[in-house]
Amino acid sequence: FVNKSDNSKIGFCVVVISGPSGSGKTTVVSRLEEESPVKLVKTISATTRPPRKHEVAGQDYYFLKPEEFDQRKQNGEFLEFAEVYRTGYWYGTLKSEVERARNSGGWALLEIDVEGALNVMREYPEALTIFLTTPSETVFEQRLRDRGTEDEVVIQKRLETARNELKFASRYRYTVINDRLDRAVEEIKDLFCQHAGECCEH
Ligand code: 5GP
Repeated sequence: FVNKSDNSKIGFCVVVISGPSGSGKTTVVSRLEEESPVKLVKTISATTRPPRKHEVAGQDYYFLKPEEFDQRKQNGEFLEFAEVYRTGYWYGTLKSEVERARNSGGWALLEIDVEGALNVMREYPEALTIFLTTPSETVFEQRLRDRGTEDEVVIQKRLETARNELKFASRYRYTVINDRLDRAVEEIKDLFCQHAGECCEH
């Protein structure tokens, strides 16, 4: 119903997707990037955590030294930032990333944690905020383990974070249960269509 290369008719919108690790968030987001009825531009976050194997600087994240992250924080360059998983690593969305999305005619898509999302809601009260979750904690834990990239200490920390994050689900405009990937993706695409109608900043 819209020309995907240009959202100018439906205005600009900030989309926030959060969910516990293991909720399938990353997979859902990449499916949305391919299939969304509106053009989406995923913002590239800045982080102080070191790159993982196969991660590309400036593509997966902007990997910053803690001093540089702090400096940019002080300069007011971040829309939001948070220390995630209490590992001592910081993550944040640069305002310039939201502008990059806007300038290229897309909706900004932020895949960020709950704390960051609450800050975005203050800046953009009209943002389309989606909390993605799994049917049960058991399934969530299994997915986390199947991924096999984290050791037990990290898994326990992430489970604890997930339990905390779930408490915040009610602050989001929508909660989507990722019991089946295709269904969850369709549900979010429908939300985009509804939202494009009522949208946001024209
Ligand atoms: P990972 O280290 O596994 O790449 O990311 C861990 C978590 O950090 C993600 O699940 C996501 O929720 C969060 N995250 C990534 N980028 C940002 C960001 O820019 N801001 C905030 N607040 N959280 C982020």
